[in-house]
Amino acid sequence: MAIAPYASRSILPLALLILTGLLSAGFFAAAAPSDAAAHAAPSAPQPGAEADEQLPAVTAPAHEAAKRLAELVASSDLVTAQRGQIPVILVAPHGGLVRIPGVPDRKAGVTVTDTGTAELALLISQRVTAKLGGKPYLVVAQFVRKNADANRPAAEAFEADAARPHYEAFHAAARAAVDECRTRFGGAILIDVHGQARVPDAIVRGTRNGKTVSRLLERSGAEALTGPDSIPGRLAAAGYQILPVAEDGPAGEPAMGRETFFDGGFIVASYGSHNANGVDAIQLEFGKMRRDDPIKLARDVGDAIAAFVRRYGPQKSDAVGK
Ligand SMILES: [Zn+2]
Repeated sequence: MAIAPYASRSILPLALLILTGLLSAGFFAAAAPSDAAAHAAPSAPQPGAEADEQLPAVTAPAHEAAKRLAELVASSDLVTAQRGQIPVILVAPHGGLVRIPGVPDRKAGVTVTDTGTAELALLISQRVTAKLGGKPYLVVAQFVRKNADANRPAAEAFEADAARPHYEAFHAAARAAVDECRTRFGGAILIDVHGQARVPDAIVRGTRNGKTVSRLLERSGAEALTGPDSIPGRLAAAGYQILPVAEDGPAGEPAMGRETFFDGGFIVASYGSHNANGVDAIQLEFGKMRRDDPIKLARDVGDAIAAFVRRYGPQKSDAVGK
């Protein structure tokens, strides 16, 4: 599904609503069992199985991730999850607008919505799909941050028990996507989509100063984070102000700039490649002004992700470039 048909701003909200509905209903996940048989669990029995009811039998511990495919269709209808076909994972924890029934507003912590980021993640997904010929994995919180914050540890994320299943559904889907990408592709790039108003026209990168992309930096050096085919580098070339500026690094630091604010939250810390079971993870905080034109922003971000994956993506990829 290309972005072009949605170029008319007036039908965008409706189109997104429909797409979100399809995703929530597991529409795009219907092919999961046969994909799993082809890519993740070659020893699993082949079809005959009901595609939408039964997962392939798993016969080896190495295919533990395949057993968890069901989790990619989130158990909460306030979490949108899409199973991907390429080693790209898009998550958006703070764009949700739906109140969780029976849950009052949180009294502590940050509760502001990252306006437009749930829709932005869907639009980026569409653009990446068009560019790389396969869908990214997608995990989007539709619940409002006032009720639960998916970018915080559980102890700080919610105050009412009724919020817990939705928070846990988000992380079950994220974990399942990460595990499956590791099994299927040998890694992935996870983009954590946020919005900020502190520097309204900038995009702020957060990797805990390289920690959450440890494996990428080991493999390809700082240029994979700041060079011409990096995601921030591509966006800088497209005219966006990127923070930190690559040349900012003090003497002795890698030449990738020093992240001093929005430097990476709970999600990239939990799923980043400094963890043995993680993947390379970058938090991107999109400035308010940049989110005013979501079609353009999604196109540019999608193109940057595609360029990055072609240059630095896992070699084991079975879909990229076809
Ligand atoms: Zn945020």
